[in-house]
Amino acid sequence: MKGYGQFCPVARASEVLAERWTPIIVRNLLLGCTTFNDIASGAPGLSRALLTKRLRELQRAGVIEISPKPDGHGSVYELTMSGRELWGVLAAMSGWAQKWMEVTPERSDPDVVLWSWCHSFLRHDRLPDARVLARFEFGAGRKGRPVRAWLLVEQKNGEICARNPGFDEDIVVTIEDPQAFARWHLGLVGWEEALGSGGIRVDGRRDLARALPTWNAGPQSHARMRREHARVPNRMPSPHLEAVGAPSRRALEPSPSSGGGSIPGFDGWVLTLGDAGYEEARAIWNGAVDRRPAFIAGCRGPRDVAAALRFAREGDLPVAVRGGGHGVAGTSVCDDGVVIDLSPMKAIAVDPDARTARAGAGLLWGELDAATQVFGLATTGGTASETGIAGLTLGGGIGWLMRRHGLTIDNLLSADVVLADGRTVIADENENADLFWAIRGGGGNFGIVTSFTYRLHPVGPEVLAGPVIWALEDAPEVMRFYREFADDSPREVNTGVALRKAPPLPFLPVELHERPVCIVMMAHLGDGEQAERALAPMRRFGKPLLDMVAPRSYIGLQSMFDAGVPSGWHYYWKSAEVGSLEDPIVDTIVEHSSRVASPWSYTVIFQLGGAVADVDESATAYSNRAAAHTVNINGVWLPHQPVGDLETDWTRAFFVGLEPHQTGAYVNFLDRDEQEDRVRAAYGDDTYRRLRTIKGLYDPDNVFRSNHNIRPPDRSEAVG
Ligand SMILES: Cc1cc2nc3c(=O)[nH]c(=O)nc-3n(C[C@H](O)[C@H](O)[C@H](O)COP(=O)(O)OP(=O)(O)OC[C@H]3O[C@@H](n4cnc5c(N)ncnc54)[C@H](O)[C@@H]3O)c2cc1C
Repeated sequence: MKGYGQFCPVARASEVLAERWTPIIVRNLLLGCTTFNDIASGAPGLSRALLTKRLRELQRAGVIEISPKPDGHGSVYELTMSGRELWGVLAAMSGWAQKWMEVTPERSDPDVVLWSWCHSFLRHDRLPDARVLARFEFGAGRKGRPVRAWLLVEQKNGEICARNPGFDEDIVVTIEDPQAFARWHLGLVGWEEALGSGGIRVDGRRDLARALPTWNAGPQSHARMRREHARVPNRMPSPHLEAVGAPSRRALEPSPSSGGGSIPGFDGWVLTLGDAGYEEARAIWNGAVDRRPAFIAGCRGPRDVAAALRFAREGDLPVAVRGGGHGVAGTSVCDDGVVIDLSPMKAIAVDPDARTARAGAGLLWGELDAATQVFGLATTGGTASETGIAGLTLGGGIGWLMRRHGLTIDNLLSADVVLADGRTVIADENENADLFWAIRGGGGNFGIVTSFTYRLHPVGPEVLAGPVIWALEDAPEVMRFYREFADDSPREVNTGVALRKAPPLPFLPVELHERPVCIVMMAHLGDGEQAERALAPMRRFGKPLLDMVAPRSYIGLQSMFDAGVPSGWHYYWKSAEVGSLEDPIVDTIVEHSSRVASPWSYTVIFQLGGAVADVDESATAYSNRAAAHTVNINGVWLPHQPVGDLETDWTRAFFVGLEPHQTGAYVNFLDRDEQEDRVRAAYGDDTYRRLRTIKGLYDPDNVFRSNHNIRPPDRSEAVG
């Protein structure tokens, strides 16, 4: 017999939305998963059959759209506008749930504790590699009835299931005393004590029984939070304070065996050679950089930053500052010194009324975009979602919004900075205005920024964007046409060109893989019809092999090329800014691009102009605002491939060909072998001179020199 729910569409829809996998599927779509496999891999434990069913139901409900892939194999899944609005509801609900999840001994429902553990305090780095299923038996659950839940651990992720997800259980945890479980989770008692009280029992595999308590960072984190809260009652007073996203690999707590106490006054985590987690923590995005610091100090706030800095200075140790660790030059890690790692500092406060965001310096662009897009807002940020906001902002910040809204620094309202002498100051137009001028383009030379406040703009949530791909043989004509198209484009249009062998990535049809191509990437920030009209001429030019321009989420656009630039590969790059793409420049670019050997190396040309050029050249330390394009040549190889020299030589030869045309360089695109003369040339004489003067005031001993360094004047030297 059919139930009411099967007849009533509203009841049926509510059932689908209330189902526990729906928010997970919607989250994965919002994070940019567009294929079935991608969505499935972000939902371990969900069977493929159930995922298929849920996706169909969501399509019927108008939450997602399913369209065939361009190559005809499989489907592309994307959220509709309503789906994205639904995400706003889910985000608000999850904020509310987060609050509700704040466990106290009084509110110690054991399954709430388990959920809190899994959601916020799971030590992913400590989880076993093999799949493990633990059953939790709560002797006296709600209303005195026994309750069961399962913790499924798979591929270093954990998930709470209300039913057995279909595997044999490896351990069974029986919780007779919910208070004992909550007290342990809150760090009020140790695991041994909780077991000893008879309130908890573990049966099954002994190795897992021993490892289980180490998967929960709750006991240490709660204890530390209690200490911190006792000292700092309200760190970021904002009604919109949000912790963003799932904890990233870098934000996890390293081994508790490492001694934070080795740095006086420091409350974060410290790793030294030999500590568990040290190798992972010293690795940065560019796998070609291999440096071994003496200490890696994971900071939780400005006080930790100041303590780590003081410690380094007293020990006369080199200092490197790490934001997102995405810099190709590898300056965020140093040999034998102290890495001041800001990656735990991910707090963000978005004020949708004032249209501002105050963001911790450890955030990545994907995380910042996710938080601001909840309110339909964004600021100019990097085009790869794993890039750190800190390094990018301090160098200037170019991205898909810049022609309309300016560089990232043009949207920077203020910054909190820890100076070389340990003082914490604000830098904005009114306070320390010289410092504020210098950090907008001058990089990490003047202090350690612990948080940035940005101006936000309404963006998306949907934009018309994507790549159009032509054969590389057509590149000379395509780029000549592109030159006119780009020069005439309104500010809503942001474009770039990439020349490369098409990478073997799933979103490209197999027949294109490794074929040399010329890609024009375009995005329009305006409304649908206007956007279609503005992009049409370029899309119609010649005979494109593939046109992937489509309405897509802004977040999807921001992460679209992530798969082509994964962490850990080896990179070497060189860069030059140029004016309009005159024929000799086009010919040089096409000639060198056609010589590339690796399917991973590439050249990308970002279109500048628009609002970037509106700002006076002397208003910030970012130089050469008149440049029309910046050309970035990337030699890329995989860690096991012995072709590093080959790709590096290709990159250098390409750059030599471009050198006669270069009008400047973007400091964030300089590499590890580019020295003082190149840094000076990148800024131009006037700006460089002014930067040196300010460096002399804020960092006369050049403590911050692991960067594209601006040397302070010698005491006797007149700057010039
Ligand atoms: C694949 C890829 C795509 C990119 N795309 C873009 C793009 O679209 N637009 C763009 O503008 N740039 C882009 N970049 C360049 C990017 O801006 C720089 O690599 C930038 O340094 C990354 O910031 P980060 O915080 O991850 O850097 P990190 O490597 O952590 O730091 C680099 C340097 O910045 C300084 N620094 C970092 N954090 C702080 C801080 N809080 N206080 C003081 N100094 C600090 C330090 O000197 C440090 O050595 C891209 C880079 C890559 C590799």
